[in-house]
Amino acid sequence: MKPVSAWVALGSNLGDRRANLEGAVEALRNADEVEILRVSPWFETRAEGGPSGQPDYLNGCLEASTTLAPHTFLWLLQRLESQFGRDRGREVRNGPRPLDLDLLFYDELELAGPELVLPHPRLEERLFVLEPLCTLAPELVLPRSGRRVRERVAELRAARRAPGTLVRCADPEAARRWCEARRAEGARIGFVPTMGALHEGHLGLVRAALAENDLACVSVFVNPLQFDDPRDFAHYPRQLDRDAHLLASAGCSMLFTGTLAEFFPESADGSVPRRDPGPAAEGLEGALRPGHFAGVATICARLFELVRPARAYFGEKDFQQCLVVQHLAGALGFPGIVVCPTAREEGGLARSSRNQLLAPAEREQARALSQALFAARAAWREGERDPARLEALLAAELGRAGVAVEYAEVRDPERFGERPRGPLARARALIAARVGRVRLIDNLDLAGVEPGATR
Ligand code: AMP
Repeated sequence: MKPVSAWVALGSNLGDRRANLEGAVEALRNADEVEILRVSPWFETRAEGGPSGQPDYLNGCLEASTTLAPHTFLWLLQRLESQFGRDRGREVRNGPRPLDLDLLFYDELELAGPELVLPHPRLEERLFVLEPLCTLAPELVLPRSGRRVRERVAELRAARRAPGTLVRCADPEAARRWCEARRAEGARIGFVPTMGALHEGHLGLVRAALAENDLACVSVFVNPLQFDDPRDFAHYPRQLDRDAHLLASAGCSMLFTGTLAEFFPESADGSVPRRDPGPAAEGLEGALRPGHFAGVATICARLFELVRPARAYFGEKDFQQCLVVQHLAGALGFPGIVVCPTAREEGGLARSSRNQLLAPAEREQARALSQALFAARAAWREGERDPARLEALLAAELGRAGVAVEYAEVRDPERFGERPRGPLARARALIAARVGRVRLIDNLDLAGVEPGATR
């Protein structure tokens, strides 16, 4: 018989849990006609159902290759459970057990027999199975929901934090204490810094944080240090209650805010010492908005110190900001920076809190930014590699719409500080333009693919 792939979930909450799980893997490794391909890390999880107060589980999963028939493979798993002390005849329903082995998938077999149902019928509801599975096969499509494993994990994590359980911390010190307590409980915090007036772009970052961490935490602070234009600061939309509602529905655990004086209590006279934002701050936004990236680096460093997240999430929409923050995180030694794709409105306009300041006709005009970027991508796809010609194309598209261009440039992302001269091997096009009184930015990887398209 040709070997097939079989996935097994492992769990233990009685005796030496790790030794039980590792012993079971070893026994399977030594079994005839079974080869272990990969084993997930072990996950500590709360027992679900069954008697209250039972110990926490250690869970994992593995992929094996086997020539055993499905029922024979199941029998092998059950025999191992008894060898490790499990007595199915005498145990309490969902009670503690030294070893639990469930067959999740056996190749693509679908079966609904009295002894064996495949794929495992409760697999898609069980975070304690899907989390380990996600470390090995995040893109695997689950047969019942049609969702990928990583998507289902994100959904279940969000559902577990029922909407409405958002904690609001009114000042940074309260947020620091809350984060410290969560970290002491072993939680990995995914952090999303924002200036509020949240939209689908921000919520995408929250969902990414939930998918990769135990909880998500968001800051909303319109940071005066990063505004070079006092009118822009004054008009920036502020809507904290609406933000809190959106975050609660998205499964976010904590939202905090504060004043400049609360974030920097040591600078009582109001003059906060700025951080050097590093080389990525030079040119483009850095040139047109003096002090902007120093303000960004200063607040991000303070936010990271307060939250101490495992990872922090930023949007590719602010491409140069991502470079500055990656440099900062490298210098601080934490956190991991995750860059998420730009969320766009139908028609291509990059989502931005500032879009709500656009009048309907201006919104129409603003679409020119993304149209220019996608036109440059189309030219790139046709083989255009000359930066000057790509920039001319951007300028022509923007000129047609009559927006006031501040820059429309093409850069090699790996030599971001330089204006490219020769033909490009990689290219990112970046635009800043004013539409009415609103300043908008957008950018695109010209060699990238449209969402949903294949290369
Ligand atoms: P802001 O509130 O504008 O400071 O943005 C907070 C975070 O959300 C930053 O990391 C932004 O890059 C990110 N962000 C803003 N707009 C979008 C978008 N349309 N898509 C993805 N991320 C975004």
